[in-house]
Amino acid sequence: MLITNSVVVTCDEPNEVLVGYSVLVQGEQIIDILPDSKAKELYPNEPSYNADGKLVLPGNVCAHTHFYGAFSRGMAIPGDAPQNFYEILNKLWWPLDKSLTMEDVEYSSLLCEVDAIKHGTTTLFDHHASPAAIDGSLDVIADTVKRSGLRAALCYEVTDRGGKAERDNGIKENLRFINKVNKDKLSDLVGFFGLHAAITLSEETLEICAAEKNDNFGFHTHLSESRDDQAHTQKMFNMDPVPLMDKYGILGPRSIIAHCVHISDADISLLKERGVWVTHQPRSNMNNAVGVARVEKMFSEGIKVTLGNDGFSNSMWDEMKTAYLIHKSENSDPTRMNGYTLMDIALKNNSAMASTFFNTNLGKIKKGFAADLMIVNYRPPTELNKYNFPWHLLFGFRESMIESTMVKGKFLMLDRELLTLDEKEISAKCVELSKKVWERYNSKF
Ligand SMILES: [Zn+2]
Repeated sequence: MLITNSVVVTCDEPNEVLVGYSVLVQGEQIIDILPDSKAKELYPNEPSYNADGKLVLPGNVCAHTHFYGAFSRGMAIPGDAPQNFYEILNKLWWPLDKSLTMEDVEYSSLLCEVDAIKHGTTTLFDHHASPAAIDGSLDVIADTVKRSGLRAALCYEVTDRGGKAERDNGIKENLRFINKVNKDKLSDLVGFFGLHAAITLSEETLEICAAEKNDNFGFHTHLSESRDDQAHTQKMFNMDPVPLMDKYGILGPRSIIAHCVHISDADISLLKERGVWVTHQPRSNMNNAVGVARVEKMFSEGIKVTLGNDGFSNSMWDEMKTAYLIHKSENSDPTRMNGYTLMDIALKNNSAMASTFFNTNLGKIKKGFAADLMIVNYRPPTELNKYNFPWHLLFGFRESMIESTMVKGKFLMLDRELLTLDEKEISAKCVELSKKVWERYNSKF
């Protein structure tokens, strides 16, 4: 099909803003981008969608998220409010993930997928935990991803917090899913080996996981999110978290490392040397009051820094806007986190990471790239060009302007109507299921 009469923002290098252009999509790919007049002449019989002068942008990628946390919205934490990050894990996330059944896993995923489609996020890297429903949980999530039409990388969080049997089940679930999915090099599903974080992984567990390492998968873990990580690994291993993970071979070019808030210059050099993907989640870091990651330093040193949401709303523009502001505020310096640097992180690097792991090219409106895109009803009140695009995004774009979302050449939302998932049914079911999850959660105190 032809998407005609659009303003195409290519997000290519260099970025281009093409006014009065058509995008030709065939199968799962973008075949051509050409002026409307030429498109009519060359493809007169192609079915078309008139974008009415709206923007066509590549779909966004979320580099780190947690579908399983969806039912936490509005849930009260019993007793005193958590005083620090460890208490947040201990009083909120750990009793919550233990309360999830397989049906909860299914519906919390669907809820996040509806949110992603509505907000133009087309590829997501999820990190899953459901200790009472481990076996087959990644298949259940994968099935929801298929139904939604999105792309997702999945893993199960291995941890020692629930004992050895639970840990072993987590390891098994990762390996089972990786063996099932990764050999086919799919364009919409990828398996990772998930690890929680240094604070809940023993030496024995790290050894077992390291022994499973092969070229067929990467690790996806949290690292140095709060100061607790460092205090814990110093006490247990007499080492900082980054060299500890490196000792067990967790850091490599196929590994995704979330947060890296508390790391030294030596750690940065090591992460650079290992070629890892680092993900930055400013909304989560602010909410947990764990500090601000030195992402500009990591980026300028050549680390592949990306942007995730850590389970916050699946609008990546919200995350970008937060990232744009937090580094200025933290450093009392308005020159920090330049818009171009942020676009390199949130658009270029996120897409490069997705293109590395999914068997397709993602993140550009370009010939031969996947037809993953959104149509945005943004009427620029001032000139929009390839140079000032970041500031139109940061100060002008609103999530409500996203009217249509396409993945693999198929509209998942068209003119704000969801075509693959039934939001009304999913939300109603989630209200019903989450009440029971909250009951089970409360019974753990
Ligand atoms: Zn996380």
